[in-house]
Order: sequence, then structure tokens, then C-alpha cells
Amino acid sequence: MDDIQLSRADHANVVWRTLAVTALLIVLVLGMDYSNLVQLSGGMYWTSMRNDFVIPLVVGFPAFYYVFRRFRQLALARIKLETLANCDGLTGALNRRAFQEAVNVELKDSHSAACAMLIMDIDHFKSVNDRFGHDTGDQALIAVTRAISESIQDDDVFGRLGGEEFGLFLPRTTFALAKLKAEHIRAAVEANPFGLRHLKSPITVSIGIAVATDMPSFTSLYKEADSCLYAAKKGGRNCVVASSFDGQNHGTTSPLDSQSVA
Ligand code: GH3
Ligand code: MG
Ligand code: MG
Repeated sequence: MDDIQLSRADHANVVWRTLAVTALLIVLVLGMDYSNLVQLSGGMYWTSMRNDFVIPLVVGFPAFYYVFRRFRQLALARIKLETLANCDGLTGALNRRAFQEAVNVELKDSHSAACAMLIMDIDHFKSVNDRFGHDTGDQALIAVTRAISESIQDDDVFGRLGGEEFGLFLPRTTFALAKLKAEHIRAAVEANPFGLRHLKSPITVSIGIAVATDMPSFTSLYKEADSCLYAAKKGGRNCVVASSFDGQNHGTTSPLDSQSVA
């Protein structure tokens, strides 16, 4: 834990807390010593007063500083561990497990509003790796993550589901709004404003959307969105296919209301 460095702000915070608690200790010692002090005079009085200040300062300050520093390092270590456990190392997006957990929390909280899941898969990504190398592929994954992140709102849950596949959960939406957002993301990725112009042909994503109106499970939403993604790939890629279902209709493979937008 010693390798966890404190930022300037963290360090200032630790010093401030240490000073505050040391000052409190001095007040406490003076209070406890009060009956003794009022009986002293001259040199004895000043010696006692000096001890009441100096001893808490010399003993208390380093001890409190050590304890507060350790507390802060522990808190930072916990944040770091949580990030490592929940986030994908390359893109910083939530990993699949954390994404599923966060969506399940939202599904428990949502009572009647329609919600949507978007699954976005980069088109012909294998050929990007094959033609330009794995590092360029990684840069493309980061660029696509950024393009999607810039299109989402605070309540939305976004994660990398694995490989070149991403998930976005919209907790309160409508069929039309979810399609609009998906189309916005599709166009933002295709516009490629992230310095990957040497790829010549733009990177594109296909998007499957499941919009559920009645308390879906994660699995039913995912399956529905995945079958729409499959339809988007079959329909030529770089397009959006959306489906609306009642949420209980587990595992349906034929979207009730599909539409290609590209
Ligand atoms: P489709 O349009 O049908 O989705 O075709 P695709 O080529 O995108 O799909 P496919 O499943 O054939 O290939 C996915 C590729 O994604 C293969 C794999 O090497 C690559 N990939 C997965 N994870 C990473 C990663 O972290 N970095 C890089 N650079 N490539 C990755
Ligand atoms: Mg792909
Ligand atoms: Mg894929």
C-alpha cells in the first residue's frame, strides 16, 4: 500500500485533518490540566503550559498524520481495486459483469417506464486488425468507446461486453428515442472524428435495439437486442434494427417491430 501516492489535494486534506485533531487534543489536555494550572504561578505555570502544548504536538501530530495518511491510502486502494474489478482495462468502460450488475439494479428500480438495451458491434473488425495490426485495432476500440460515451446521458449504463461488442442500457426511454440515440451513435462512429483517418474506409457499427415496455429481465432484453443485431449484420451492417416487446417474451427471435435505419 506504500506505493499508493497521495495527490497534492489528498495530502493537504490529510494535513488539515491532522492539524484539526491535534488542536483538539491540545484543548483537551489544557482542559484536563486546568485545575493544576490555576494553582501554579511563575516558571512552574509556564513550564506546565508549554508541556500541554508541546507533548500533544510532538506525539499527536505524527501519530495522527500517520493514521490519516493510511486511511486515505486505504480509500484510494479500494477505489483502485473497484476500478480494476469493474472496468475494462483497454477502454475504461464497464466490463460485462459490472454492466450486467448495473443494468439489474436499474431494472429493479424501474417500475413502469419503458427501457431499452442497445448492442453495438464493430463491423468487419477482424479485417481492421488483419490490415493495420492489433495496436490500431485497440486504438479503434478506444475511439469507438469515446464516440459512444459522448452520446450518452448520466442515467445510461454503458459497457464493453467483450471483443468489439458494446452494450448500452437506457433506463427510461421510448422506442423512437432509443432509435434516435442509436442512429446518432452509428453516425458518430462512421464520421470517425478521432484521428484514425489512415484506416481509409471508416469504422462502422451495427446496432441491435430491444425496447421493453413491461419489466424485462436482463436475459430477455439481451436476447432480443442480440437478435436485432444479427438482423442488422444480415441487413448489410452499419445500420440500426430495433424491436419492441412486452418484456416477458423471453428469447423471441422475430422482432415485433423491426426497422432498418441506415
Ligand atoms: P462482423 O462484422 O460480423 O462483426 O465481423 P467482425 O470481423 O467484426 O467479427 P469477428 O467476430 O469475426 O471478429 C472480431 C475480431 O475482434 C476478432 C478479434 O481479433 C478482435 N478483437 C477482439 N478483442 C479485441 C481487442 O481487445 N483488441 C483488438 N485489437 N482486437 C480485438
Ligand atoms: Mg464485429
Ligand atoms: Mg462481435
